[in-house]
Amino acid sequence: MRQKRNSSTVLFLIIFVGIISGIIYLYNSKLFERDLPIVTMTSAQYWNLKEPIDVSIEDESGIKYYEVKMISADGEKVLSHEALLVPQKKLELKVEFPQMSQRIQDKEIAIVVTAVDGSQWNFFSGNSASIEKRFIIDKRKPLVTLVTNSYGIYKGGSALVVFKANDENMNELYVEVNKEKRFKVQPFYKEGYYVALVAWPVVQKNFDARVVATDKAGNKTQIHIPYYHKAKNYRVSKMKLSDRFLKGKIATLAAEYPETQGVDDPIEQFKIINEQVRANNEKTIHTITSKVSNETISEFSIKPFYPLKNGQKVASFGDHRLYYYDNQKVSESYHLGLDLASVKMAEIKSQNHGVTVFAEENGIYGNLPIIHHGMGLYTIYGHCSSLKVAPGDAVKPSQQIANTGLSGYAMGDHLHFGILVQGVEVRPEEWMDEEWIRLNITDVMKNAKKLIGRS
Ligand SMILES: [Zn+2]
Repeated sequence: MRQKRNSSTVLFLIIFVGIISGIIYLYNSKLFERDLPIVTMTSAQYWNLKEPIDVSIEDESGIKYYEVKMISADGEKVLSHEALLVPQKKLELKVEFPQMSQRIQDKEIAIVVTAVDGSQWNFFSGNSASIEKRFIIDKRKPLVTLVTNSYGIYKGGSALVVFKANDENMNELYVEVNKEKRFKVQPFYKEGYYVALVAWPVVQKNFDARVVATDKAGNKTQIHIPYYHKAKNYRVSKMKLSDRFLKGKIATLAAEYPETQGVDDPIEQFKIINEQVRANNEKTIHTITSKVSNETISEFSIKPFYPLKNGQKVASFGDHRLYYYDNQKVSESYHLGLDLASVKMAEIKSQNHGVTVFAEENGIYGNLPIIHHGMGLYTIYGHCSSLKVAPGDAVKPSQQIANTGLSGYAMGDHLHFGILVQGVEVRPEEWMDEEWIRLNITDVMKNAKKLIGRS
């Protein structure tokens, strides 16, 4: 009797343990997983009803059903739904706004995404997740109107543009040149107006400038700026590398620069200095000279630059230099400034107000002060023997900023005078010419203010 009871207890225990482990097994098995599908929607807060909305759904056991619906003043509308015969682990959906509802007047709508996974949990019905997101509807493109611009622009030169732009959800506003370089714009004179200096990079054959405005809903407006394009030929010159130059200046520089450490061949040293070191030094200059203030500007009075008294031009801006050794072309580069020489260690002066933004050694440019004159217009002074300004210093017209020298990659005492517009080197001659400045910059701004005052 007792034995029988014992064996039925054992049997009961076995069954009990079996059921428990079955439950534990099912509870932990993938078939019965209890993780909800993960639903994510685009981070955008605005919708222009044109671009589709990105929705992503993920689930370990696979998604077997989803539904996307829109809630507007007209009620609920299913935009997309699908029951999947083979559950998918990840779904990327592009949800389009329904064509039929184009006349929607709602300022805001909601999108609700519901997804169910293939788990056997919840009495075989699966785990269900639902998220709702509200979007502000903005179908209107930013409004951009040109006020005025410089009549023309030379290859390698500068120009001005003034325009009006507004959008209640403005996102980005800039001037784009050749679909790659973006020039920042600065608020001008009255609310809603902007001004920018733009440049035609000397190494680019063609020029196309447009004002681009985008809003937070992805609406985009592009307005072409109708500058008269003026071609300009720059010199291409063959330069022969002499052994004296390679064993002298180049060997000295090669010993100094990290890029040429461990390189013994003089031609290779020259190549690295002329290409790699130059590129690194110019990158530093471009970064420093790309900044523009966000403050509203209404005056930009600039006088012709004349950095060196009685300075004789010894090399031009835009020269394309091809370097040869033993009749073999070994390297090439563009000279992106104007070389001026007078006496040794001559005084360098700024003819315009500005702020010193850089004043230290910069590779082949030697000791280099950089001064910002406003509106993204910068001047640089290379190869100096001494610096009379420090970063942060305000500079006044006719104040001495440095002395000429031959620091960096320079053969004789001279000044490498460069002008940059938002990180792009431009022809210094324009900014040294009173007539050019008046016609292309100051008069254009004056005229813009007149036009804005009238509107
Ligand atoms: Zn130079």
